[in-house]
Amino acid sequence: MKTDPSAYLDVGLAAGRLSAAICRRVQQERVVAGVPQSKAGNEPVTIADYASQAVILRAIAASFPRHAILAEENSAHLRAQADELVGRQVNRLVAEALAEEVSFDQLCAWIDHQGDPASRIRWAIDPIDGTKGFIRREQYAIAIGVLEEDVPVAGMLICPNLAVDAEAPAGPRGVIFAAARGAGAFQVPLDGGPEKRARASACADRARVRILGSVEASHGDPALLTALVAEGFGGGIVRVDSQVKYAALARGEAEVYLRPRSRPDWRDNVWDHAAGVAIAREAGAIASDVDGRPLDFRHGARLEENRGVLATNGPLHAEIVAAIARIEARR
Ligand code: AMP
Ligand code: MG
Repeated sequence: MKTDPSAYLDVGLAAGRLSAAICRRVQQERVVAGVPQSKAGNEPVTIADYASQAVILRAIAASFPRHAILAEENSAHLRAQADELVGRQVNRLVAEALAEEVSFDQLCAWIDHQGDPASRIRWAIDPIDGTKGFIRREQYAIAIGVLEEDVPVAGMLICPNLAVDAEAPAGPRGVIFAAARGAGAFQVPLDGGPEKRARASACADRARVRILGSVEASHGDPALLTALVAEGFGGGIVRVDSQVKYAALARGEAEVYLRPRSRPDWRDNVWDHAAGVAIAREAGAIASDVDGRPLDFRHGARLEENRGVLATNGPLHAEIVAAIARIEARR
């Protein structure tokens, strides 16, 4: 039996709102936010990452117990670190968010929930995408994607620090983006307000296209972005953390998201793209890799067969792929 992809949104968004409350709370409690725990590969992780993953996976396990789950964190590092204080802080965050007693073992079981790995439906979750942006108090997103037979069919990005109105960057913050295949992409203020369609920009003028890239230089290839501007794609570079870049593309704040490989052996994580790709596509954008090849989500946790990611509003996609090839041939 087929599930209407919009059914995933009710469950994902309710949990994503709890996660957003956790993340905001951790940012308000300055002492706690200042204690990021580093995991393998020097990637930062905070108590909010674990608490966020616990509440999201708990909700999916309750509503769709057999769906497969691919999520960034696992409890092994938390258990190894815990440092009783860290464990207690995560425990408190989860218990307060759910307004119920939760044992440490229970919350670790939620963090590690995997469902049935053979399921044709797989959720891809980054409980805090852009943890570095979260620690800097800049942009981050709670990213929840759903793949059916390895195709992203629904996406949710909860962006607690993003301006509700792109035209009023100093105004209220917090936006939810959601999309289900065939039903369009929508944005709604996290703290209440009218829901609006999200639509990619119609700009087809290469001199005006704005290019989104990572804040963290080590996550990409900033020189390639600069070279693309020099090729005449001249609307400027916009540096933003996390899948908020897909959200910005989906609501027409920029025309291009270019994520070249940061090094030859780098492969992008599925949880860093599934939700964003689902939303951007429903907003009218196109997503491929930097060679213009289709994104291939069939290879487990990573986009093993793709070279980076290129998402654009459409009209100039092929021209940009060609320009990247020209730039790389000159290197
Ligand atoms: P962004 O905020 O767009 O720079 O991307 C954040 C994501 O970059 C994190 O969720 C990580 O999964 C991913 N990441 C971490 N290290 C690297 C790296 N060396 N190259 C590319 N992406 C990375
Ligand atoms: Mg991430």
